[in-house]
Amino acid sequence: MTVRTPRSDSFDTIVVGSGIGGLVAAAALARLRGQRVLVLEQHGTIGGFTHEFKRPGGYRWDVGVHYLGGMGPGDQGSRILDRLGDGSLAFSRMPEPFERYVYPGLDFRQPGDPDQFRASLTAAFPRETRGIGRYLDAVHGAARWVAVHGVREVLPPLIRGGARMAFPRGGRVARRTTAEVLSGCVEDPLLRAVLASQWGDYGLRPGESAFGIHALIVDHYLRGGWYPVGGGGAIARSLRPTIEGTGGEVRAHARVRRILVEHGRAVGVVMDSGDVLRAPFVISDAGAANTYGHLLGDAAPAHARTALARFPPPYTVVAVFLGLSGDPATLGVNGGNVWVFEGTDHDDPAKLASYVSFPSMKDPLATAHTAEIISPVDANAFREWAGRPWPRRDAAYLDAKNAIADRAMGLAETAIPGLRALTAMREVATPLTFAHFDGTATGGVYGIPCVPVRFRDGFPRSRTAVPGLALSGADAFSPGVMGAMMGGVKAACVAGGTSIMRSLMRS
Ligand SMILES: Cc1cc2nc3c(=O)[nH]c(=O)nc-3n(C[C@H](O)[C@H](O)[C@H](O)COP(=O)(O)OP(=O)(O)OC[C@H]3O[C@@H](n4cnc5c(N)ncnc54)[C@H](O)[C@@H]3O)c2cc1C
Repeated sequence: MTVRTPRSDSFDTIVVGSGIGGLVAAAALARLRGQRVLVLEQHGTIGGFTHEFKRPGGYRWDVGVHYLGGMGPGDQGSRILDRLGDGSLAFSRMPEPFERYVYPGLDFRQPGDPDQFRASLTAAFPRETRGIGRYLDAVHGAARWVAVHGVREVLPPLIRGGARMAFPRGGRVARRTTAEVLSGCVEDPLLRAVLASQWGDYGLRPGESAFGIHALIVDHYLRGGWYPVGGGGAIARSLRPTIEGTGGEVRAHARVRRILVEHGRAVGVVMDSGDVLRAPFVISDAGAANTYGHLLGDAAPAHARTALARFPPPYTVVAVFLGLSGDPATLGVNGGNVWVFEGTDHDDPAKLASYVSFPSMKDPLATAHTAEIISPVDANAFREWAGRPWPRRDAAYLDAKNAIADRAMGLAETAIPGLRALTAMREVATPLTFAHFDGTATGGVYGIPCVPVRFRDGFPRSRTAVPGLALSGADAFSPGVMGAMMGGVKAACVAGGTSIMRSLMRS
C-alpha cells in the first residue's frame, strides 16, 4: 500500500462523527483502500461513546464501554479491530461470573459459558428445563438471522439473494417482541425476568423490543465479557494512527452544520464556522435522527423522515460516576456487572433498575478505583433545562439530577452494601449531558430503538437514498460497540466496495 503525501484541502471521504462507527469506517477505507479520510468531531475528545474522561485523584471513567462480547483471541470483533488498528489494543476478560442479576428473592449469576449458563438456569428453575432449551434455541436462530440480515445490503449481489432465505425461523421470531417470545417459551414470571435482565444493554423493555435485538445481545455475551485494557479510549487511540497514516485527519471541536448536497448528491459538508469542505463521499456517524432530521436539511428524502416518525423516543439514562476511596473488592464484588431490579416486571417503568459496573477492577492500567451506575430515566424529567447550555444549569437542575442519582445509588446499595460509604466523589450525567457531548437532540444512548418495525422494514440502513452518502455506527447495524463497529464496516463497503467486508471477515 502506498502512503500518500498529505494535501491540506483534498480528501477522498469525509466522516461526520468520531464514534466507533466513524473511526472504523475511516480506518477501513484508509487501510484497505489507501484513502485519505477526514473525520470531523464536534466534541473536544474523539471516540463518541467510547471516549473517557478524567478527574483529579487518578479517576477515569468510560461513557459507553462497560463490557463487550466477542473480543477473545480469534473472535470476529478483536480480529477486525486488530486488522484496522495500530496493534496497541488489547482486551482483558471479565472475572467470572461476569453478570449478576439481583431481584427481590433471587440473586442469579451468569457464567460466561453457554453450557454453564444453561446449567445454572436449569438448577435455579428445574421445572422449566424444556422451556429454557426452547428459549436458547430461539436466541440462537434469531441472532443468526439478525447478523446475516443486518449485512445483506452490502453483500455481493450473488450471495445477497441466498442470504435473504437464511434462518427463516429465526427471522420470524426476531420480528416478534421479546415479551411474546419469552412467554411462549417459559411460564415462570421470575425466569422470564431473569432471561430479560440484559435489556438495558439495548435499551428497550421486553414488551417493546424486537426479539431480534434481545437475541443478538444475549448471544453476544454468551461467552462472557471483555474490557479494553487502558479503558474505552484505547479503542480510538489504536484506530487514529491508521487514519493519519494515509494522510487523513481526525479533528476535534469540528461541528458539521450541514451535509452539502448538490444535484441530488452528497459532495461535502458545511461546518458551523461556515467553511465548506468537499469530498467525493460522505459518511455520517452522527445517527439516523441527526442525519435525516437535521444534517441533510431539505435534501433529506421524504421517505426517511416518514420512517423515522414510526419509532418511539430513544432510550435515555442517568449515569452516576463514582470515585472510590478504596477497592470495591472489599464489598464482596468481583468486578463483574451487578444488575439490581426493584421488581420482576421489566415493563413497569415505575420499578427502578440500576446497572453497576466497576471499570477499575477490569482494567489492569487503572490508577484509582471507580464505579458507574446507569439507570433508565424519562428524558422529560429534565426538559425544562433543555435550553440551558452545559455546564451552566441552575440549582434546581442539580437537585433534580441528584435526587434521581440518590435513588439509583440506593437501589445499588441493596445489592452492594457499603458502596455509598466507599464513595469519595461522584458526578451525574443526565440525558441533557449525553445530548451535549454526543451531539444529539434527545440524549438517547442507543440511537434508533430496535422495535420490531426496525427488523421488518430494514430502516435505517447504511446505504442511503442520497448518492455519495452512507450511514455508519449503531443505526446502520445495531446498538452497542460491536454493532456500531459493524455499521462502520458497512459504511466503508458502501463507500469503497463490498470486498472490504470479505477482507475484514477473513482477517
Ligand atoms: C451510558 C452508556 C453505556 C453503554 N454501555 C455499553 C457497553 O457496555 N457495551 C457496548 O457494547 N455498548 C455500550 N453502549 C453503547 C455504545 O457505546 C454505542 O452504541 C456505540 O459506541 C455508538 O457508536 P456510534 O459510532 O454509533 O456513535 P457515537 O458513539 O454516538 O458517536 C457519534 C459521534 O458523532 C458526533 N457528532 C454528532 N453530531 C455531529 C456533528 N454535527 N458534527 C460533528 N460530529 C458530530 C458525536 O459527538 C459523537 O462523537 C453504551 C452507551 C452508553 C451511552
